[in-house]
Amino acid sequence: MPATERLYYNDSHLIEFEARVVDVTERVSGWTAVVLDRTAFYPTGGGQPSDTGVLNGSRVVECIDDGDNGVLHIMQGATPARGENVKGRIDWARRLDHMQQHTGQHILSQAFVTLFNAPTRSFRVSEQSCEIDVDLAHPSNEVIERAVELANNVIWEDRAIAIRNVTKEEAAELPVRKESTREGELRLIEIDGFDLTPCGGTHAYRTGEVGIVAVRSWERAKGLVRIEFVAGGRALADYRRANKSVREIAALFSAGRDDAAHLAAQMLEENKELHRRVRMLEEAAAGDEAEKLFNETSPLKDGTRVIAKVFDGRDNDSLKKLAHALIAKPKTIALLGSRDGDTARLVFARSVDALGDMSSLMRDACALVEGRGGGKPEMAQGGGKNVDKLPDALTHVVTSVSDPNG
Ligand SMILES: [Zn+2]
Repeated sequence: MPATERLYYNDSHLIEFEARVVDVTERVSGWTAVVLDRTAFYPTGGGQPSDTGVLNGSRVVECIDDGDNGVLHIMQGATPARGENVKGRIDWARRLDHMQQHTGQHILSQAFVTLFNAPTRSFRVSEQSCEIDVDLAHPSNEVIERAVELANNVIWEDRAIAIRNVTKEEAAELPVRKESTREGELRLIEIDGFDLTPCGGTHAYRTGEVGIVAVRSWERAKGLVRIEFVAGGRALADYRRANKSVREIAALFSAGRDDAAHLAAQMLEENKELHRRVRMLEEAAAGDEAEKLFNETSPLKDGTRVIAKVFDGRDNDSLKKLAHALIAKPKTIALLGSRDGDTARLVFARSVDALGDMSSLMRDACALVEGRGGGKPEMAQGGGKNVDKLPDALTHVVTSVSDPNG
């Protein structure tokens, strides 16, 4: 079977073509693979996703490079028969997007080599983003932006991009950016006066077609620097998204876009300060409350005060603050409960000079409110789902603390 003539090799801007069907095979899940004698469809490979489009009006959803067997056009719906002549049309918007990303990658990779002698080890163009893994010794925003600057200058100089077919021996004499593992004739992509590299992908006619290259983010990964970038139309789409996000944030402050980051940072700082003040006020309030409860409670014979109370709607944190304030006083045991919605909450604590195992009391109380809890001899917390049993649970533990032998 003859290999498919790859029309995209010679003309990356060929959108429509005519061809003859040389093979049709059924694939799994009812899809069909069509092989043509010639095609403008670029198959998935070399870090670039495949083209999509139509053959005689039916959708080509993916193209796969099957080596010597040619290019497989994976189709849905009505498919042409073997021997039939067909009209093919690739989705130009998708092809242009891929060319912008892919050619942009050539330019950005060479920019890192030119400025920092930093080669690109791998690259990927996916549906959303593009990545290159660069062997860059000292990455920083400034260093990466210098490469972006050079890449965009090369784009705006609108340099010609040529395809040169050479032998492996000829290629060895040329300053190619990366070695090729292919045998036989090599296809070199030459960006006039800037970059020469072997590649089988689809490229812009001139660098200007790439439009712009911008870096979204970068991180260190496996000893390399992984750089996420966007080119051409994707860069515009990305700018629109970024601009929208920042303008929405700025609108919350009734401020201009470029003040948003500063104002957000300021607000977080103020928020931290407010939290600190709220904590202080809560502690002060808990101190006053503890004072009042302490004074209201008569001591037992041994001088210990047992302060037991069920509150409504207090959370764990609030109970704990009060417990801490109470046990700052001498010979005090705090047995606190709260009906917090449909949850019964319990916090037991004692001052260092009081007696009793709060953890063991907590286990007893939690059994009554049908829940779980525990802690240390001086402080324990817990809860359960039987809110109605909360007063009984407290009465039970109050009895056992007040009369340890009872
Ligand atoms: Zn390429």
